[in-house]
Amino acid sequence: MSDSIADVAVNVPLKQLFSYRIPELLVPSAKVGMRVAIPFGRRQTVGFILGVRKGQSDNLKDLKGLLDDEPILNSDLIALLRWAADYYCHPIGQVVRTALPSALGHEKTTVKIQTEAVYKPLNQNLKPRGKTQQDLLQFIVQEQSAGLIRIRENFPAPYAALKRLVEIGALQRNDQELYRDPFRLDKTPEDQSLTLNNDQMKAVNCVSSAVLNHSFSGFLLYGVTGSGKTEVYLHSVDQCLLTGRQALILVPEISLTPQLVSRFRARFEQKGVRIAVLHSGLSAGERYDAWREIVRDQIQIVIGARSAIFAPLQNLGLIVVDEEHESSYKQGDGFRYNARDLALVRGQQQHCPVLLGSATPSFASYYRSEQGALTRLTLDKRVHAGALPQVELIDLKEQVVDGELSNILIEAIQQALEQQEQVLLLLNRRGFAPFLLCADCGESFHCPNCEITLTYHQQKRELRCHYCDYVDSVPESCHKCRGLNIEPQGAGTEKLEEELEKLFPSARIKRMDRDTTSRKGAHQKIMAEMMARKIDILVGTQMIAKGHDFPGVSLVGVLAADSTLNFPDFRSGERSFSLFTQVAGRAGRASGGGKVYIQSYNPEHYALTCAAKQDYHDFYLQELPFRQELGYPPCGHLVNLVFSGNNNHQVQTAAMHFSRDLCDVANSVEILGPSPCPLARLRGKNRYQILLKADARPELRRLLNRLDEKVKQLPKQVTLHIDVDPIDML
Ligand code: ADP
Ligand code: ZN
Repeated sequence: MSDSIADVAVNVPLKQLFSYRIPELLVPSAKVGMRVAIPFGRRQTVGFILGVRKGQSDNLKDLKGLLDDEPILNSDLIALLRWAADYYCHPIGQVVRTALPSALGHEKTTVKIQTEAVYKPLNQNLKPRGKTQQDLLQFIVQEQSAGLIRIRENFPAPYAALKRLVEIGALQRNDQELYRDPFRLDKTPEDQSLTLNNDQMKAVNCVSSAVLNHSFSGFLLYGVTGSGKTEVYLHSVDQCLLTGRQALILVPEISLTPQLVSRFRARFEQKGVRIAVLHSGLSAGERYDAWREIVRDQIQIVIGARSAIFAPLQNLGLIVVDEEHESSYKQGDGFRYNARDLALVRGQQQHCPVLLGSATPSFASYYRSEQGALTRLTLDKRVHAGALPQVELIDLKEQVVDGELSNILIEAIQQALEQQEQVLLLLNRRGFAPFLLCADCGESFHCPNCEITLTYHQQKRELRCHYCDYVDSVPESCHKCRGLNIEPQGAGTEKLEEELEKLFPSARIKRMDRDTTSRKGAHQKIMAEMMARKIDILVGTQMIAKGHDFPGVSLVGVLAADSTLNFPDFRSGERSFSLFTQVAGRAGRASGGGKVYIQSYNPEHYALTCAAKQDYHDFYLQELPFRQELGYPPCGHLVNLVFSGNNNHQVQTAAMHFSRDLCDVANSVEILGPSPCPLARLRGKNRYQILLKADARPELRRLLNRLDEKVKQLPKQVTLHIDVDPIDML
């Protein structure tokens, strides 16, 4: 006998779907995309129906029940999730789980659907007694129907009157589902309507015609800060909504982009467009409600961070990815997807254009625009003709520096303070990857195979490449200049803050890094103080390069540029260029003519000279041969395999065996390592990595498809994480 069978995704670390018989009674209502209760092992859990088919069900268990009245995943979204699970080699059940708001993952969700009483006129001929009742009835008749929240805005205590009006049959009360809306009580911000300039117009026209064609195309909007990119997004989205379709806007982090959200609200809310904002600051209830509202097609624009790429919009007409170069689009653990890349996949699947925007595009996107895979749209002038700041490189080899600050910079800070202007100092020591540098000639030590900076391991006093495991001893003298001043680099923001306090005792100094912003709202507080000019000098890590404009800043200093430049990663040049260009752009936004100093032992490095000129194309031309020669993305493809476990020896041995097995089937895929990760111990686990490198994706694919059988042979105590297109390889 043939039965209806559901193929169900379950949140377990296994790649397959699980099949269940759909009981007779549920057959009419059990649809693809629905949440179901299922028996799993000895427990009951939640699953998602990804497919329904006819077949033999003899050995299958029954679905226990449906958890909602309607599907919460549509077929487009399921296609995207399946694609992503396959591409990123991640179990489909966990992929679905990551994509959904947490409230939908548990069977007994703690999040309740809220309801609101809504009143409709029933019999208008009834004349109630008392002025309150009369006014209230008149109000509801005029509105045709009104919810309690809306009524309370006009009548402070309406309960008794409402009750009475229902009793006498003048009103009818229904309970309607309510969406928790973080904006409900905010006023719509004010919009300024702008006439686009020629470059903006050209960009909008290109995007709009793709929207009208219902066809995929990828665009790279390359525009310096303040060149009017956001205005291009707004106009393109407007065109998209006119065709009756919806728009999805991805931003790196909502808390850093309040201006963008408020400009979208200002432009669209007055036209009756509903905007949903998805971010980590939402309560579970708000997230759940936003999701349901989107599923029901009541939202036209979704603005959100990384995971918003999975927003269940049915009828997508345009995807925008703002600040597309940001590494926060890549999820760092669990299901390690890249939302920027998935945006392009989703655009292809749903036949809509994708607009990537940045002042400092990722090397990969710029490369694709040079190859013609993305259409490049350029805005090369600031709208309010503010001059780009003057950037000067300070050569630390020629300076006597006691601490982090050169005398040139100290004097410049002094001057800025005297003129009551604000100062921004960037000291970027991301992660902990100490390296050695010759203070006489600026030489640092690179892997002869991989060209990345060798990491200094203090305990064993050795230099190591964490890509290929090349090891070298610490040299006595510099092999280039024979100098003896070889020093580990590494003072942090905290020490710099102390140094500044001594030098400028009367200045108001604040620090912004992971330590000072871990509490909720701490980041916003520093930003607000900076805006209100309650801070004279702000010191920080790369965080300070992002988000708000600070009109009061006239001086920007980049300290220890070498620690960014020598970060043990093939993208260190790209990151340096992008970070220094972005932070330089923060000087003198309002008045024009700000000043920027970059301190480095290697001021001749092209990432620095190009950042000083703010010349992306020149940077691109100089970076390209390096990527080509070594086969680094986007000229080649990488997958990082990270092994971790409690016992160091066991992890190392497992990784070594794994690597040997892989070599047998590698063909033209290069297998580097295993080598200890730079963060060799993380949260109590010992970590090793194997890097897979290939010229073409299909070869890499073939190897990845064979991983599953090898993973089964790993000891239970060793965990393997597969990171496809890795960004952070610490
Ligand atoms: P970006 O997103 O590239 O940093 P914005 O879109 O925020 O640039 O534009 C910078 C400033 O210029 C904003 O204050 C914006 O209102 C203004 N602006 C943008 N386009 C125009 C235009 N066509 N005419 C006048 N002002 C504009
Ligand atoms: Zn190497």
